Amino acid sequence: MEKIEVVFEGPVRDLVRWRRNRRGVHVLAGNDPAIVLQFLLDRPAALKDMVESVGVPHCEIGAVAGDLTDLGSLARDGCRVTVSAAQPFPLADPRFLCDNHLGRLARWLRLLGFDTLWDPVWPEAEVARRGINSGRTVLSRSLALLKRRELVRAMLVRPDDPLAQARQVVARFQLAGRVRMFGRCSVCNGLLEKVAKADVRAQIPPRTARWLDEYYRCRGCGRLYWEGTHTGAIETMLHNLTS
Ligand SMILES: [Zn+2]
Repeated sequence: MEKIEVVFEGPVRDLVRWRRNRRGVHVLAGNDPAIVLQFLLDRPAALKDMVESVGVPHCEIGAVAGDLTDLGSLARDGCRVTVSAAQPFPLADPRFLCDNHLGRLARWLRLLGFDTLWDPVWPEAEVARRGINSGRTVLSRSLALLKRRELVRAMLVRPDDPLAQARQVVARFQLAGRVRMFGRCSVCNGLLEKVAKADVRAQIPPRTARWLDEYYRCRGCGRLYWEGTHTGAIETMLHNLTS
């Protein structure tokens, strides 16, 4: 029997799902300052599979320290390993792919100017395949999806509220300085371009036309955008992120 101890340190503790009498896992320490689990295995196993078996997808692990230094290593009898949460970092290529439950998050990210794909009919396997092939960062709430080994650019979305989810994405990938309001169409992800008020006057509600002069049109679907209710919420979010 292989006995391996894994110490979950810091915020990653919130992701650990364990039951006290689960077969093959003993709880050596419950929460503060760390969760320490002892895994009892018939044979050596990859650290990745062990942490994912208690609910923590590999994309949410940052540092690995102790007897092993990466998630792909085989944990053997007597190993003691400490894992901590993935840290925020500046994502060089902020293009995203949302799983089929995250349509409202996709809309927010597009409004913030980020190239984001989402389609409610894509099953998880399709989202994974597209994420791997396109180099996009996959955003998901599904552990089963995020466990896929080949999926290296990914994030587990934790809040329920779509605006809070967008805040998590912006914070994790340090994107506050790269937000571009009216960058993309929230409906089709098309690029928005500024249009002259005179050219679109017929499509603007008269009360809006009276006080607003800036309008944007989607190059994909033609939808018209102007400063409205969305912008206030976005500005509040950005202010909270940067203050
Ligand atoms: Zn559009």
